[in-house]
Order: sequence, then C-alpha cells, then structure tokens
Amino acid sequence: MTGVTLKDFSASYGGRAVLQGISGVFPSGALTFILGPNGSGKSTLLKALGGALPFRGEVKVGEHDLASVPARIRGRLVGVAGQAPSLNTPFTAGEIIAMGRLPHRKFPGGGDEGGKEALERAARAMELDGLLTRQASTLSGGERQRTLIAQVIAQDPKVFLLDEPSSALDPKHTLGLFRFLKRVAGEGRTVAAAVHDINLAAEFADWVWLLNDGDLHASGRAEEVLTAKILSKVYGVSFAPVSPAGGGRPLWRAV
Ligand code: ADP
Ligand code: MG
Repeated sequence: MTGVTLKDFSASYGGRAVLQGISGVFPSGALTFILGPNGSGKSTLLKALGGALPFRGEVKVGEHDLASVPARIRGRLVGVAGQAPSLNTPFTAGEIIAMGRLPHRKFPGGGDEGGKEALERAARAMELDGLLTRQASTLSGGERQRTLIAQVIAQDPKVFLLDEPSSALDPKHTLGLFRFLKRVAGEGRTVAAAVHDINLAAEFADWVWLLNDGDLHASGRAEEVLTAKILSKVYGVSFAPVSPAGGGRPLWRAV
C-alpha cells in the first residue's frame, strides 16, 4: 500500500516558514480533501510534495523516503497537478498530456510500455479527445485545467496530488472529475486534492485535512473533521448543516 506519511514536515519561502512541523497521513485507497482558508498553506504543501519547493522533515510514500528517491522513481510515485495553469507554450494539449509519460520511458526517445493506453485513458477521463491537436494556449481555462489533470492521469502515479483541480470546471466536469478520483482511490491509490468547496468534501471525501495558518488543525475521517464546531473555528464564520435531499452526510452553509 502506498499511503503518504508526513512527520514533522516544514516548508518555507526564503526565511519565512509557512508550514511548521506538521505530521499526518494521506491513507492509500482514500480520497483526501485538503481544506483551509486562503493562505493556510495548501498549495505550499502540494508544491513541496511535488518537488517544486524544498521541505524539512520526513515524507514516506509507501516504503520510499521521498527526499531520497531518484527523480524518475519519484515521477512514478507522485504526480501533481498545480494550481491555475497558464500553459502559454507552443505544445498541443496531446503533447502536454504525453509529457506525463516521461518517468515511464526507458530513456529519452525509448519505449513506453502501456503508454498508448494510458494516454487514451487520460484523454477520455477528462473528455479531451476532440482537443488533443489544439495548441494549449488556445484552450479555455477549464480545458487547460483538464489537460494538466490528464497529464497526471497519463503519468499513472501511485499518489495523485491536485491543487484546486476544479477551480475552473463547470458542474458537469467537476462531478466527472471527483467521480473519477473516487474510482482512482478505489483502485488502492492515494489521492489528495486541495479544494475550497466544503460541500464537495462532504459529498466525496473519505479523509480530510484542515489546514489553518500553516498548521494541521484537524485530520481524520470526513465525518469527524466536517463539524460545525471545527469548520467555524478555522474559517471564522458560523456553519449550519443542511440535510441533502437524497440522504447522506450533511452539507454546510456559511451563515
Ligand atoms: P493556500 O494554497 O492555502 O491558499 P499558500 O500555500 O499558497 O496558501 O500560501 C501560504 C502562505 O505562503 C501565504 O501566506 C502566502 O502568502 C505565502 N506564499 C505563497 N507563495 C509564496 C511565495 N512564492 N513566496 C513567498 N510567500 C509565499
Ligand atoms: Mg492555493
């Protein structure tokens, strides 16, 4: 099993510490939602786990120590879709998705077993089949976002990390994305997404991290963390539960 375990994890920009000594897990086989107010450290956490920012402390991905695995192995373990991409590159959507296969190639230009199927699966999952030959800079914001998520799907990592993956998506694609991520987690992978919509978490999360000012204020099963008391404390507004029409966990309305 390839869950992610952080121990005493810290990350800084220059001398300014943002995340200070947090410890917690993203369980394998679970969809984790990373919640928290603006500036609480969600993107910093995902950047550091994705290798774009140094960190201190220990991160275990399954048995692997993330800080010491070679880059290509790391690319098979962890895939990250970053926040709000601009994608002003000359590459087509299809080429950008195909870049996700780099960690699987024997050497640059070498073979990629399973690559064709992985690319087809990624394009299909994000409904990009008709857009693959389009230059990325000509795509809409939501199409660009789906392209970068498709790159991670093509990468086929054990751990999927996504930073606000539905921020530019319409309701249909948002639902499609989280249903897909739930299936990915159901295959035994680890999926963690930073999201603002508490009600998406109420509907889809197995596990929740709630960050507050660089600290992991609460983490655990969704029903343990998504309570009026905890949400109100961290977000600084009151929350009232709303019973969903079809049953299930309560949704939350800020009041
Ligand atoms: P979130 O994603 O939860 O909204 P971030 O992780 O982006 O929050 O930011 C956490 C804190 O780090 C904020 O105070 C933000 O201003 C600061 N920060 C983010 N990026 C940088 C950067 N490149 N340089 C300096 N400070 C940054
Ligand atoms: Mg962010």
